[in-house]
Amino acid sequence: MTPQLVFDRLGVHVEADHTMADKSKLPLPIPTPETAHFWEGTQQEQLRLQRCKSCDSTYFPPRPFCPGCASREVEVFAASGKATLYSYVINHLPHPAFDGPYAIAVVELEEGPRMMTNIVEVEQTPEALILDMPLEVTFQTQNEDITLPYFRPAGGAS
Ligand code: ZN
Repeated sequence: MTPQLVFDRLGVHVEADHTMADKSKLPLPIPTPETAHFWEGTQQEQLRLQRCKSCDSTYFPPRPFCPGCASREVEVFAASGKATLYSYVINHLPHPAFDGPYAIAVVELEEGPRMMTNIVEVEQTPEALILDMPLEVTFQTQNEDITLPYFRPAGGAS
């Protein structure tokens, strides 16, 4: 079975490799009808979540029905992009798209859902990655179809 780590539920498969870091080797997701709104959002630098109109729960990853009550009365909205660091592991297995060890993180969005991602613009060490630290979303365009959301320490947060 292929290891699924980063952006797991969005269809990215991360596999260990033993070559030099090469960002072009970052495996990219393929939008599906269920996730198309999410990827259209990231291209506009929006982090889109879904909300159930029946039970008012907010959820991620994308799906056409509410995971809480199975209602299909759901809507898409743009999240704030604010999050906190919920947990992480530092992966020491070499990956062609990363230089050295990198953190595979779970962030808790301000709206509630948790998302697997990478934390950027910070050292990938336990000293720098503090649980519950405030984060904000940032976007990195990979190609004309895919822009990936990452998180970085919240700028100037106090
Ligand atoms: Zn619901």
